[in-house]
Amino acid sequence: MGMNKTGMYPGSFDPLTYGHLDLIDRGSKLFDTLYIAISKNITKDYLFTIDERKEMLEKAIEKYTNVKVVICDKLISTFAKEIKANFLLRGLRAVTDFEYELQMASTNLLLNPEVDTAFMMTKTEYSYFSSSMVKEIARFGGDIAKFVPPYIATEVYEKIKK
Ligand code: ADP
Repeated sequence: MGMNKTGMYPGSFDPLTYGHLDLIDRGSKLFDTLYIAISKNITKDYLFTIDERKEMLEKAIEKYTNVKVVICDKLISTFAKEIKANFLLRGLRAVTDFEYELQMASTNLLLNPEVDTAFMMTKTEYSYFSSSMVKEIARFGGDIAKFVPPYIATEVYEKIKK
């Protein structure tokens, strides 16, 4: 059974961290094609516009031939069907992620039974990394060099100054 495995990794990536990048790297080996889908979550306040996030992601994934960045402006399950993804990829950090992720995965499976969710455990060194923490540290003038690539750190500081 040579089924082509297409993964979709949905997230806010506001901004992209080394935690996300680790998941992308590992996901790129799991799937034939991996779409990173930047989602528009209406309940969230973003620091970066969707186009800015797309640009930052595209720069980070240049070396992968099977990873693509797309903007998801609809329900994840609907969008997955459109791009013919058969799996969603999500990361699990602390146990606190579990409840939300279980709810999301179950809902998505109900909405589209053709698309299952695959989880990858975070690497220990990135286990507490989050975009919101990066923004918080930067707002208080802290050093975010260990959390995000250099060009993203520059963008975060610049954005926060405004
Ligand atoms: P969302 O708003 O959809 O939660 P995020 O950009 O915060 O978007 O996260 C997207 C996905 O990346 C989630 O599955 C999250 O668990 C995963 N993720 C975020 N940070 C890490 C990390 N440090 N290690 C592993 N997975 C992570």
